[in-house]
Amino acid sequence: MTSKNETDEGTGLARQATCPACGHHVAVAFFNGGRQPLATLAWPRSVEAARSMARLPLDFVRCVNCGHVYNAAFDYAAVPYADNPNLMFNRGSVWNDYLEDLRDRVLEHLPESPTVVEIGCGEGHFLRRLAEARPTGRYIGFDPNGEVDIGDGRMAFHRELFEPERDLPVFRPDLVVSRHVLEHLMNPLGFVQVLAFAVSCHNLPTRLFIEVPCIDRVFASGRTADFYYEHNSHFTTRSLQRMLERSGAEVEAIGHGYDDEVVHSFARFAPQRAQAEIAAEGQDFFFRAERARTTIAAQLAELAKSGVRTAIWGGTGKGAAFIANYGADAERFPLVVDSDPLKVGTFVPGAGQPIRFRDVLLEEPATVIIIPTQWRARDIMLEIERTGIVYDRILIEHDGRLIDFLRDPHPY
Ligand SMILES: [Zn+2]
Repeated sequence: MTSKNETDEGTGLARQATCPACGHHVAVAFFNGGRQPLATLAWPRSVEAARSMARLPLDFVRCVNCGHVYNAAFDYAAVPYADNPNLMFNRGSVWNDYLEDLRDRVLEHLPESPTVVEIGCGEGHFLRRLAEARPTGRYIGFDPNGEVDIGDGRMAFHRELFEPERDLPVFRPDLVVSRHVLEHLMNPLGFVQVLAFAVSCHNLPTRLFIEVPCIDRVFASGRTADFYYEHNSHFTTRSLQRMLERSGAEVEAIGHGYDDEVVHSFARFAPQRAQAEIAAEGQDFFFRAERARTTIAAQLAELAKSGVRTAIWGGTGKGAAFIANYGADAERFPLVVDSDPLKVGTFVPGAGQPIRFRDVLLEEPATVIIIPTQWRARDIMLEIERTGIVYDRILIEHDGRLIDFLRDPHPY
């Protein structure tokens, strides 16, 4: 026999946490930094301010599926992005050489007159490099905190978030660029999947270029200074690749730069027909349910107005859901019965009708019986007849309205 404790020991350091890169739910302990102040965004102006800073938990774990490292105790609200923009300050010449090389690699993947959108473009330095090298294209930057000098008009800038569903069909980019953005997001996988979904919905194949810092080298060196509060999410080559694959992308190329401290990838997103179909089905259900609420509420109002004695069969679960959704209040529909003696004596959640035993209908019959659980309606009808309860009509909900169970067509 294993107790819970023995099981925990058996799994070592494993625990449940959701990986922001691949969505996997098992991680192992990676780095316990205790509680430390913000390292890069607070800029204290005095020794007192520095020493009295709030201490935040550094509880880094590693996803066992993709190798991503992240702070399981991270809270986005604790990071004051709005006060001090997270500018990447790097004017070193090695970095500059790297960017030249990167620009050329990106250009290789672009047509003669490309449309390029950069998400989180900052001051637009990279976009400008592309625009200067291939001036026949359109270059559009998005960044709610950015500031781009659009200069001679080759570039455009939007001080807002790029919203794929809205913006993809407007700009129809050949390439979406995202450099040093995804490692700051709580849910980078969600970000990429939203883009993939827009590709499917609008049937617009799109390429994505992602660049993020890479921690592949920390495993050999054992260095720990990378892991502070603002840097909550650390990609490895594998976790970047898994994130793209989990979003349905075809990873065309993966490469490294700046002494392997960054990893980048070109990925191609083709429309996924199943996603568009599922979305359409969901939306169709949504609007049908909205119409049904209006229709059935009107039918109930008419029933109440007609003065016929109506019983609702079932006051918990689906019965309670029916009563709540269609507003079958206790004033107009006070009679709720159930076959289950255990439920008798309790009250309908929300509306508050007392739930009475079905035999109440023997003494005081109802003209109309509404059965919210369609798939049990036949059994309930047999129970009604066996018990000797009389009625005029049984109503069930089908295809957005209340119908007569005995006279109207339905699949139950
Ligand atoms: Zn993962």
